[in-house]
Amino acid sequence: MQISFHGAAQTVTGSQHLITADGKRLLLDCGLYQGKREEARRRNQDFLYDPADIDTVVLSHAHIDHSGNLPNLVKQGFRGKVICTTTTADLCGAMLLDSGHFQEKNVEYVNRQRRKHGEPPVDPIYTQADAAEALGYFEGIEYEQAYRLWPGATVTLHDAGHVLGSAIVELEFQSGKGEPARRLVFTGDLGRPNVPLLCDPTLLTAADILLMESTYGSRTHPPLEESAGALKETIRRTSQRGGKVIIPAFAVERTQLLVYLLNKLYHKGELPDIPIYVDSPLAVNVTEIFRRHTAYFDEETQDYLRHDDPEGDIFNFGRLQYIRDVEQSKQLHSLKGPCVIISASGMAEAGRIQHHLKNNIEDSRNTILIVGWQAPNTLGRRLVEQAPVVRIFGMEYHRAAEVVTLNGFSNHADEPGLLGWAQGFKPAPKRTFVVHGDPDAAQELATRLRGDLGFPEVMIPSLHQTVEI
Ligand SMILES: [Zn+2]
Repeated sequence: MQISFHGAAQTVTGSQHLITADGKRLLLDCGLYQGKREEARRRNQDFLYDPADIDTVVLSHAHIDHSGNLPNLVKQGFRGKVICTTTTADLCGAMLLDSGHFQEKNVEYVNRQRRKHGEPPVDPIYTQADAAEALGYFEGIEYEQAYRLWPGATVTLHDAGHVLGSAIVELEFQSGKGEPARRLVFTGDLGRPNVPLLCDPTLLTAADILLMESTYGSRTHPPLEESAGALKETIRRTSQRGGKVIIPAFAVERTQLLVYLLNKLYHKGELPDIPIYVDSPLAVNVTEIFRRHTAYFDEETQDYLRHDDPEGDIFNFGRLQYIRDVEQSKQLHSLKGPCVIISASGMAEAGRIQHHLKNNIEDSRNTILIVGWQAPNTLGRRLVEQAPVVRIFGMEYHRAAEVVTLNGFSNHADEPGLLGWAQGFKPAPKRTFVVHGDPDAAQELATRLRGDLGFPEVMIPSLHQTVEI
């Protein structure tokens, strides 16, 4: 067996690992590399293998850095199945089309720049039509149901508790010579225990080979309850001074988590009587998908939904309004008086949130509430750093609004969470590959896996490295 690490190697983006076994080629994830425009384009455009030679893709979850290059894979000749959970397949329906649209818009900008420099135009990596085509190759399966990939090989998906539908991937290969089967486990992104909406990550006990994420391999998150309390206080404080709370949030999971927390506060009478808007077509579409998959919510959320939610819909309550229409979105700009606006993108680099920030950042009554990790060089990161002046749509804005950052809503396991989960393996996996983490985080986790848990062989592969097993 061979494993080639074609993405998320010593970085957190572009997850893509190629397994060659039994003469077959299986791709774990096919994510988009996200980073500076030119570098991202170069890394995403071409594959270092022929997509037509890939037999099957197994997708851990719908996030674009795990699924977002599938339309390009299909465009370049892949014709096999994309195996994932039914929820992931549904979410990809919304997200890949949105990503295709984004690729088309992005290339218009790139080509305007290229024209200025006398360079020929380039094509988008893929279009919305390519994304629609790719969706035809998806096959959704249920958690805990072994699925036969080819004679002697099966895949089983276990709930990873990271976003709705997310999976830990377990591959089993029979040797056919009376020897025990070989088991490879890929964490995808691992979630945190005791987070609303999501089930806890499934504990596994057996693996020969482990591919483990390390996003927060060197960090400990504050408790979620602490951030939920600060969310309430921030909304109260801002509304008392007549201001608006502007929240950049990822359309998948983070927006739904916020809505659920606000729903609970609303029904307990702990929110001021002000309107709350979710202003993002993708977030609205994704929330619809969440509504169709309530069976995958954790026990506590199911209980609340059945017994305590007066509307029987955790994504709906009195003052909440979803906005798809662009004209309605524009009407929010002239709103007077306190309100909450949740909008995408999550790092404020694109989308409607940029308009809301532009219109509200210079008023000291307002608050910008950051609820997720912000990558370096993004507008979101500048806000976290309390920059006094920021650029939006090429114009300078002097920040007067308060900026509050809450780090407790992460849906990634932190260092204790990752180690706690890895402790479940008895005996320890023979070989472990630490992926999906910046070098420091990966290094720290690898050291702890060796030292604290006694994992015998732990390696941090480099990009495009191939390992023979
Ligand atoms: Zn993820």
